[in-house]
Amino acid sequence: MAKKEAPYKRLLSGFILQSDSGCWEWQGSKYKNGYGWMKVFGRSVSAHRYSYELHNGYIPDGLEVRHTCDNRCCINPDHLILGTHQENMQDAVDRGRIRKGKDHPMHGKKVERPRQSNVVMVMGKTYKSQKEAERELGLGSGTVAYWIKTNNGKAKLINKGELNGKRFKSM
Ligand SMILES: [Zn+2]
Repeated sequence: MAKKEAPYKRLLSGFILQSDSGCWEWQGSKYKNGYGWMKVFGRSVSAHRYSYELHNGYIPDGLEVRHTCDNRCCINPDHLILGTHQENMQDAVDRGRIRKGKDHPMHGKKVERPRQSNVVMVMGKTYKSQKEAERELGLGSGTVAYWIKTNNGKAKLINKGELNGKRFKSM
């Protein structure tokens, strides 16, 4: 039996670059759910998690490595970000990957995200929810959420505590 290559070498020689998307598509073994995996020192690890750790460092406890490209077998560290399990699930729902199932905890929540009921400030004006802001300003669905997520100065979440402040008397 040939001597095994170092795990990072196997990782970096185990993908094919997709020129259109820039994804590094894992060519090795895959879990049923589409994520790639490989053996590292006798343990099976997710290829994308291993790639994230190699390039970006330690994954804190409780966090998941998410794909910005929605391509589960992609191991391009530029397409990988840290997030919570909940965010990961929400991504899947938003992208229509998880189909409606009555037993699924996110059933029926595709449109109304729980946090959309949060008070937001958009372009200096306060709204009871992201949805309301979008409606009043004629923005596309999800725009305000996107601005908040990307720290765009146009929109921010208002903490409940701030609601008692005089700035929000109008509500
Ligand atoms: Zn990708």
